[in-house]
Formats: sequence, C-alpha cells, structure tokens
Amino acid sequence: MGCRLNIAESEAIRDMAQGQDDLIVVNSCAVTAEAVRQTRQAIRRARRERPDARILVTGCAAQTEPQTFAAMAEVDGVIGNREKMEADSYTTVRVERSRDTTSATLLDFARSEREVVRVSDIMAVRDTAPHMASAFADHARAFLEVQNGCDHRCTFCIIPYGRGNSRSVPAGAVVEKAKQLVDAGYREIVLTGVDVTSYGPDLPGSPSLGLLIERILKGVPDLPRLRLSSIDSVEIDERLFDLIAHDPRMMPHLHLSLQAGDDMILKRMKRRHTRADAIRIVEKLKAARPDISIGADIIAGFPTEDEAMFANSLALVDECDIVHGHIFPYSPRTGTPAARMPQVDRATIKARAARLRDACSTRRDGWLHSLIGTSQSVLVERSGLTGHAENFAPVRFASAKPPSSIVRAIITGLENDTLIAQEAA
Ligand code: SF4
Repeated sequence: MGCRLNIAESEAIRDMAQGQDDLIVVNSCAVTAEAVRQTRQAIRRARRERPDARILVTGCAAQTEPQTFAAMAEVDGVIGNREKMEADSYTTVRVERSRDTTSATLLDFARSEREVVRVSDIMAVRDTAPHMASAFADHARAFLEVQNGCDHRCTFCIIPYGRGNSRSVPAGAVVEKAKQLVDAGYREIVLTGVDVTSYGPDLPGSPSLGLLIERILKGVPDLPRLRLSSIDSVEIDERLFDLIAHDPRMMPHLHLSLQAGDDMILKRMKRRHTRADAIRIVEKLKAARPDISIGADIIAGFPTEDEAMFANSLALVDECDIVHGHIFPYSPRTGTPAARMPQVDRATIKARAARLRDACSTRRDGWLHSLIGTSQSVLVERSGLTGHAENFAPVRFASAKPPSSIVRAIITGLENDTLIAQEAA
C-alpha cells in the first residue's frame, strides 16, 4: 500500500520471503487516516480469503501504531519499518491457528515465543537498508530508492514518525544498482525516496542530489531515461537544475511537493518555500526547458484555511502550470501539530478538493491538446499498446509495440486523458 518507496520495498520483501506460500505481508501506509483504515480492511479481507495463512503487518502504519494491529485477531505479527528489511522477520514464524481464530500460538517469532510486535525506534536508524533498490517485475521502469526518512517536520505529516530521519544511499551503490537494472533490460529508472532532495549530507563529502544524478548518467551510459519522483522545489541544487535543463536523458517532468499556494498556510504547514518561490522556480524551469511538465501535490482544506487562502492555492494551478495534479483532502493525523489546529469542516474540505481537481484537469486537458501533432519519444509498457512520453503524458498506440521499447511517435489525437499515437515513419 502507499508510496513508490513501499512498492520498491515490497519487492525486496518478496525476495526475502520467497517460497513461504502460507505467508501474507501487508506493507501498510499511514499518510492519511483513510490509508490506515484501508490497511485494516486489507488485513480482514486477507484473513477471510486465507483462514490458515500467517499474516504479518509492516510499513508506516505498523511503525506508528503497532498496538492497533497487534490487537487485531487476524494478525500474527507486527514488524517495524527497520525490521521489515531483515530476512529473519519472515523466516521463523510458525502459527498454529485454532478454528476460532481468537487464540493463536506464535512459535518462535525470531528469538522469543509469543513475541507479536517487533518494532524498534525508527528515529535511531542511521543507515539505509541493504536492499535499497528493486524493480517492479512487470513494469517498464524501475524505481530506485536513493534516500529514506525525513528531517523536516511539516505540521500535517506523520511520515518522519514512520520512516525516521533522513539517510542516503552511497552514490557508488546507487550507480551499481542502476547498472544492474539496465542490464536487466529497464530503459527508465525513477529515483525515489521520502525527501529525495535531502540526499547526501549524511555521506562523506556531502554529495548533492545533482552530483548523484551526474554520477548515474556518467556511470550508466546505456540508461536512456532517468526520472525523479516527488521533490521539494526550493531544494533543487544548481547542478541538478543544470541537468534537468540541459541533459536529454533527464526526463522533462518534475513532481513538486507544493502542498498549498498561500503563504500563511505554507507557514502553518512549516514548509520551506513561499508561493512566490514556487512560481519563480517553475518559470525558471520552463525558460530553461520549455517542454518540461509540472506535477504537484496540493492539500485542500488545511486547518485555518479560509476562502481567500484557498483561492491562492487554486490560482497556483495556472501560475505553476500544474498538469499532473495530486490533490489530497486534508485529513488530521493524530500526533501531528496540525491535528490540534482549528479544523475546516469535512464538506468544505471535500468541495475544495473537487475544485482543485477540476482546475488541474482543465489545465491538463489544455496541455494534452497542445501535444497533438507533435513528435514524442514513448517508453512502451507491459501491454505493448500503451506507454508514457518523456513529459509523462500517457500514450496509446493503435497497434502493439515491443514492451520496454522506446518508440518515436506522432501524436494524432486525444481520448479519455490519453494521447493517441502512431509510430513515426
Ligand atoms: S518533507 Fe514534510 S511532507 Fe515530506 S515527508 Fe518530510 S515532513 Fe512529510
């Protein structure tokens, strides 16, 4: 469940727990109360479908509220975000389940019997797990984790309490893994983490994210496409800006963690940028690389947000030309400062989220239309009929192309938010 980091880690868990057919691992998310509710729902469904399976819960919801899951009769074990990267968390659990499912005898969960919860203090973690990087077996692109945790404390966010403080993967190991992924046939790598632009200060010589990317592009000359997952706009270092602006292997698509368009709300969120900063960085990016597409995360209905403040967020969609909008209705997370602030009522939050989504989809529609008649380089995905352009516009072909191939395509139309294309002659 949840973010790309969790999906990458689920691949590592799959490797570590290989062959254990009676095991179900729920890799949970805690970013919203809804995400935690969906985790519990997934556990109950799994238990209904597999009455005799062993069910282990891990991920950020398990890390931030282990007792919630330990108290569920369906659950056999709760594992923290650090422990989930240790193979013996999966290998030694044996359960004898009596028919009534209420009493479960845990045999040998690691070192001591009856241990149900193995969750250590994530803030004490200083290293990144050896797994670090894995690819999704059935995707054309691989997600490469280069950083984990976060040193910031945005007032609405529970993630640092699930993931711990920021830590970076040494550049040499990242380059090595990128080589392996290209050798395995991946044509695009997406660098991922919790706060990717915080890459480096914990490593010798404090390499920046820009320097890391430079090393990947130099060290893996056969990698055609490198993409960034979500980044903090004001933390783009100069070298990184240069690479985004000028290197054709850096994809012209950035997803910015903007969160709001009003300075008072940004201040109450403890964000590190102003609305003017956000607009300025997008203008600079567009001037340096006109074909770049902008995505952004925006929260609707943050506590104390009034109509005028919301209007500033709405206006940001046009001012930053946001064509990949991810809109989040604010949801209070217990333990965060924002949850203690005066809340906006649910109906207003929902209505504002809908208005933001409408604004983003109008902007997106205009952008997709502007691409008709252009030539795009498209990475073909699993089905052979669909793919994504470098600017992350979705594309569909009339006839199938080899999966994982990169095709030069002429855009001939637009249908249901997807560009229609034919291969260039
Ligand atoms: S930067 Fe802020 S929103 Fe992002 S993970 Fe860190 S605390 Fe959460």
